[in-house]
Amino acid sequence: MTEILVLVDHADGAVRKTTTELLTIARRLGEPSAVFIGSGYANAQATLASYGAKKVYLLEQADLAEYLVAPKAEALAELATRVSPGAVLVTSSPEGKEIAARLAIKLSSGLITDAVDVSAELETTQSVFAGNYTVKARVTQGTPIITVKPNAATPEQAPATPVEEKVEVVLSDAAKAARVVDRSARAATGRPELTEAAIVVSGGRGVGSAENFSVVEALADALGGAVGASRAAVDSGWYPHAYQVGQTGKTVAPQLYLAAGISGAIQHRAGMQTSKTIVVVNKDAEAPIFELADFGVVGDLHAVLPQATEEVQKR
Ligand code: FAD
Repeated sequence: MTEILVLVDHADGAVRKTTTELLTIARRLGEPSAVFIGSGYANAQATLASYGAKKVYLLEQADLAEYLVAPKAEALAELATRVSPGAVLVTSSPEGKEIAARLAIKLSSGLITDAVDVSAELETTQSVFAGNYTVKARVTQGTPIITVKPNAATPEQAPATPVEEKVEVVLSDAAKAARVVDRSARAATGRPELTEAAIVVSGGRGVGSAENFSVVEALADALGGAVGASRAAVDSGWYPHAYQVGQTGKTVAPQLYLAAGISGAIQHRAGMQTSKTIVVVNKDAEAPIFELADFGVVGDLHAVLPQATEEVQKR
């Protein structure tokens, strides 16, 4: 069976949900092999096995973690040249896309980014131009390298006992051109990562102030979701840019997206319209966002959100 390489996205071995999604997709395409680069494999082992990795390539040498993305691309290229996989799957994060692009150049392969689905025949689906078009594409040269957006698949367990193989690579001087000197985590909110969350509650200009975002946060917390914001809310200084959803912010595709006090500008839609279920709370019944809504409430979010929070907390 064709080997499919999946680059593991992790923080010191804590495997991100996106990797379990990639392993689920990889099982449709062939036999998934996880590529673990960096330290903390002991924390990752059980997750990779339970989502069906048949093999794990372990690249734990210190210099791979010390530098930015170039060494990872170089290591992946060396591995891909040796094992000739049927495809390489990488998470569509800024880092993942840079690694994939560098890898494609090194392998002279075609690259498809931001796929929202990959068929067993390696045909990808992308949602482009703010979601107005769906594009089907296929890599026609070399090893297909595909970056897949978070939430493109529902992770399904398929326990396996992966064979582990240690891999050592000699990095070029060019790969060591930029070194990581410090990493500092953003203050933990206790909420899921915005792009990975199954539920996102977003607030817009209608929220009215930074303080009022507490009603958005309270509902997100009751639902176990992440908080998002429109650009109007971010530009007003009410919520940090890291939480902006849209064309110039993050793209999310959760199971449930709740937009409160957001009008539905095309640039906002670009970041959320592939969400599975969209719920809108807006006091203007003519707001364009209602065109996307599966469920809508015409009302003041300052009244509706606290009521919804209270109801959810009762359950
Ligand atoms: P508004 O359009 O002002 O809408 C506020 C809504 O809140 C209204 O519908 C109103 O009826 C409702 N409301 C008011 N009070 C209440 C209340 N008490 N209860 C309930 N509802 C209420 N925007 C993004 O979001 N993300 C992006 O990434 C992004 N990128 C952009 C890139 C470019 C190049 C450009 C030009 C624009 C971009 N924008 C982006 C901005 C975008 O065009 C809109 O200006 C923005 O999305 C509007 O935000 P909003 O819906 O919160 O505000």
